[in-house]
Amino acid sequence: MSAPHDTVQRADFDQVMVPNYAPAAFIPVRGAGSRVWDQAGRELIDFAGGIAVNVLGHAHPALVGALTEQANKLWHVSNVFTNEPALRLAHKLVDATFADRAFFCNSGAEANEAAFKLARRVAHDRFGPEKHEIIATVNSFHGRTLFTVSVGGQPKYSDGFGPKITGISHVPYNDLEALKAQISDKTCAVVIEPIQGESGVVPADVAYLQGARELCDKHNALLIFDEVQTGVGRTGELFAYQHYGVTPDILSSAKSLGGGFPIGAMLTTNELAKHLTVGTHGTTYGGNPLACAVANAVLDVVNTPEVLAGVKAKHQQFKARLEQIGEKYGLFTQVRGVGLLIGCVLSEAWKGKAKEVFNAAEKEGLMVLQAGPDVVRFAPSLVVEEADINEGLDRFERAAAKLTQA
Ligand SMILES: *Cc1c(COP(=O)(O)O)cnc(C)c1O
Repeated sequence: MSAPHDTVQRADFDQVMVPNYAPAAFIPVRGAGSRVWDQAGRELIDFAGGIAVNVLGHAHPALVGALTEQANKLWHVSNVFTNEPALRLAHKLVDATFADRAFFCNSGAEANEAAFKLARRVAHDRFGPEKHEIIATVNSFHGRTLFTVSVGGQPKYSDGFGPKITGISHVPYNDLEALKAQISDKTCAVVIEPIQGESGVVPADVAYLQGARELCDKHNALLIFDEVQTGVGRTGELFAYQHYGVTPDILSSAKSLGGGFPIGAMLTTNELAKHLTVGTHGTTYGGNPLACAVANAVLDVVNTPEVLAGVKAKHQQFKARLEQIGEKYGLFTQVRGVGLLIGCVLSEAWKGKAKEVFNAAEKEGLMVLQAGPDVVRFAPSLVVEEADINEGLDRFERAAAKLTQA
């Protein structure tokens, strides 16, 4: 006998879920590689990647293997104990980056929360309470906790929840002069997304990041890179800072790090890490063995020359075809981004209508993303197969044709 709620449909969402999301009309039930099937058995190609999370697609054998192996061993012990997968993962991240130390948590917002708290703690310890100001950028996105929406540069996410965290200012992105004018000896940290993801896939200029590094050094401020969206191979390097050649003091990672299993990480140096002494910060699930076992497998596959070089090659494939489609149908004016984080900037006629493009693509069996109302975003699996790229872009072209003919 089946339980009363064995059969659920999209309509149930409107009945029993808090209405803070507006999910698509279909419910995905299964995925393999870059293909997804819905309740009705309809097959879709996934260029959304769970918002830059499913870095190796769906049900990748290495990840399924790591998860099931760990599931049979040990799920959770809390941070009253350490565990082998967490220590292996920390070693891997330390070996592959500027960092000496890792702090694990469960999401991007939490990784940033840890980064901001660390920056304030370091400044407090070294210089006193006056030095607590954080400079972020207009339109930036750092997560949805109260601290991270306060730091984020989109008031629509922070307004209406009572007093915000204070001591935070926002300067235009990619504008070194504006940062220079704002930074002072009261600044404890400058936080930048190397590519602004949520607000339209806007890559930083190299000179901007270099200049930010110099300004931070001059004012004893820490440079934080929010690599929640750009990290773990997305740009064709393990982290985007390596693509740019500008090293931060603190880096936050999440999304792709777990390939679909929730995990976040804050990476930093010995000198800074030592300020988070025993008891100053924590989370029950952080460094959970299941999450860390999967993340270890993600890094083993992603951090290889073949996969990273593949990202750069696939970027070219996407970009060339998307530019063609954009031009042919007058749909977009620019294709921007790095690696497999790509944004198509809608033309004047289609401005504000990214949702319509999303819907048209869905009708053709293709999952894409928006990045604000004016940009269609692609964040596919880094190992998306040639045949899926071609088929997916064929579907996207059909969507563009129907949309622009209608
Ligand atoms: C998605 C994202 C976050 C928030 O991550 P969550 O896991 O949703 O908390 C933070 N920063 C950037 C740049 C992101 O893209």
